Amino acid sequence: MIKRRFYYEYGHIYTTLQIIFLYSITQHFYNPMTVIRITKEFDFEMAHALLGYNGPCKDIHGHSYKLSVTVAGAPVTDQTSPELGIVIDFSLLKKIVKDAIIEHFDHALVLNKNFPQTQLAGIHSISGRLLMVDYQPTCENLLIDFVERIKTNLPLTTNLHHLKLRETSSSYAEWFANDN
Ligand SMILES: [Zn+2]
Repeated sequence: MIKRRFYYEYGHIYTTLQIIFLYSITQHFYNPMTVIRITKEFDFEMAHALLGYNGPCKDIHGHSYKLSVTVAGAPVTDQTSPELGIVIDFSLLKKIVKDAIIEHFDHALVLNKNFPQTQLAGIHSISGRLLMVDYQPTCENLLIDFVERIKTNLPLTTNLHHLKLRETSSSYAEWFANDN
């Protein structure tokens, strides 16, 4: 009877203490890392033509592209590591994107490999950087290609989160890991 009365009067405090205790235990054993997103931005010039397109983009023309690459990861917490507090070194991310993308696409003429050879006659003489790709080189398809090129070179501690490719001042395409 006394026990029941005690619980009736102080039960809510008892329950609150239980919740606080369980929360403390959970936080002690499960300490999730804080995920931070890191972004590097790149500029490159590229020419392309869209095979079979019904409009001016069927002819060779160029854009000043702006590529934004965002990766996500937790900052290093090892106090002895030279990478302490870093998700990925900005210079490493820059090198990965430069080696995988910029080196190949900057000042290149990018064409769908299905372009008839008759239309390509003489093109090598005007373009020393001709890149034939197995897709239509739209902003969208370039992003799909770029995603694979970057993913294979990222450290295992980071994930590719988001890419944005701006083709003109008013047009861009985006890729998000969450959508795919
Ligand atoms: Zn274009």
